Amino acid sequence: MPDSQLVDPFGRRITYLRLSVTDRCDFRCTYCMSEDMVFAPRAQILTLEELYAVADAFISLGVRRIRVTGGEPLVRKGLSSLLTRLGAREELEDLAITTNGSQLHSLASTLHAAGVKRLNISLDSLRRERFAELTRRDQLDQVLAGIEVARQAGFRRIKLNSVIQKGRNDDEVLDLVDFAVARGLDISFIEEMPLGSVSSHQRQITFCSSDEVRERIEARHNLVRSSHSTGGPSRYWQVAGTETQVGFISPHSHNFCGSCNRVRVTAEGKLVLCLGHDGALDLKSLMRRHPGDRERLRNALVEALQLKPEKHHFNTDDQVQVVRFMSMTGG
Ligand code: SAM
Ligand code: SF4
Repeated sequence: MPDSQLVDPFGRRITYLRLSVTDRCDFRCTYCMSEDMVFAPRAQILTLEELYAVADAFISLGVRRIRVTGGEPLVRKGLSSLLTRLGAREELEDLAITTNGSQLHSLASTLHAAGVKRLNISLDSLRRERFAELTRRDQLDQVLAGIEVARQAGFRRIKLNSVIQKGRNDDEVLDLVDFAVARGLDISFIEEMPLGSVSSHQRQITFCSSDEVRERIEARHNLVRSSHSTGGPSRYWQVAGTETQVGFISPHSHNFCGSCNRVRVTAEGKLVLCLGHDGALDLKSLMRRHPGDRERLRNALVEALQLKPEKHHFNTDDQVQVVRFMSMTGG
């Protein structure tokens, strides 16, 4: 396989794209957006054709893994047609989706048939009232039903994503691990990141480090360091004697920038080179000024990579360090 032509000034090769297909969502997770979140006007969002053009340019330059995200990707109309086109690209080793799971009960088989290989499903609580509080939507049963349908649909791997916050859901870490183990799923625990301002809690109080989460798990389970790596911020452990891998996504407590192999494109077509920085290149304007000009788009991507920052600088005080919300950037 040819090496990626997308190389940044620090020698990192970009092989992984996170593509956000919408900024809209049917949930309002308290750490992600406010109840009265204002979404971008539809005309500002990339069309399905533009999303494919972006993905195609990245694939032609050596990207081998794409994760489709949002907002909630499964609320985007016509998504399955985009996924079918991407699923047909033989160069891609992996096509994955991150979802809140609310639509999986009806869409899981369609996603699998389109060529999606892996699913990440967000699940922060197994308790109905708490789930409703964290997501501002009383839909735990629907999400759990969706997870069951997805398990039957034949995906290569399904991983749960849980943002753990002190005093809010940190007492559920072991329950979430047990839930994953009983179903042969993987699970990643995520430290909350300071993206967008939130009103429901103070982040320096609710911050729960990955090390603390790991200690809680190790009180009950034997965790064996796994060699599995995505080149991203996750570090993985195997729960001994089970199929379950436990990952920790720790932007605060462990710097992962040195091996960063990824970039993001927002639903509005902004190329974000680093989650921890505000700088972004407007691919939508370029594509709308020069429709169908694949070479121009490819050149812009190669040039943009020269601006990829060496590392981010998150810390845990309550200041918002990046004004963007995760739902805009694509988690
Ligand atoms: N709506 C989908 C979902 O929730 O899975 C995909 C988009 S969501 C932005 C992707 C992931 O980002 C979710 O697992 C969510 O929990 C996580 N997330 C959102 N805001 C975050 C924050 N401020 N810090 C850490 N993780 C965050
Ligand atoms: Fe929606 Fe995902 Fe953000 Fe929750 S984390 S509000 S499900 S985009």
